[in-house]
Amino acid sequence: MDFFNLFKKHKCQNCCRRFYKVENYMHHQMLYHSDKNRYDCSNCGLKFPDMDRLKNHIKIYHSYKKNKSH
Ligand SMILES: [Zn+2]
Ligand SMILES: [Zn+2]
Repeated sequence: MDFFNLFKKHKCQNCCRRFYKVENYMHHQMLYHSDKNRYDCSNCGLKFPDMDRLKNHIKIYHSYKKNKSH
């Protein structure tokens, strides 16, 4: 059982992240799933408002893509 997630009631239907406060949940929706966000990750489809956030996301979640072998 994921003990920590018990305290996070608000679950995002798009990426399954959980949030303790509804404010954080709403902010997440605006940040990651808003139509205003133009930069979407080609790996998982998440959207970001600027390139820096997208790059940071790729670095964190898809760093395995940077496999220099082969
Ligand atoms: Zn989400
Ligand atoms: Zn991604």
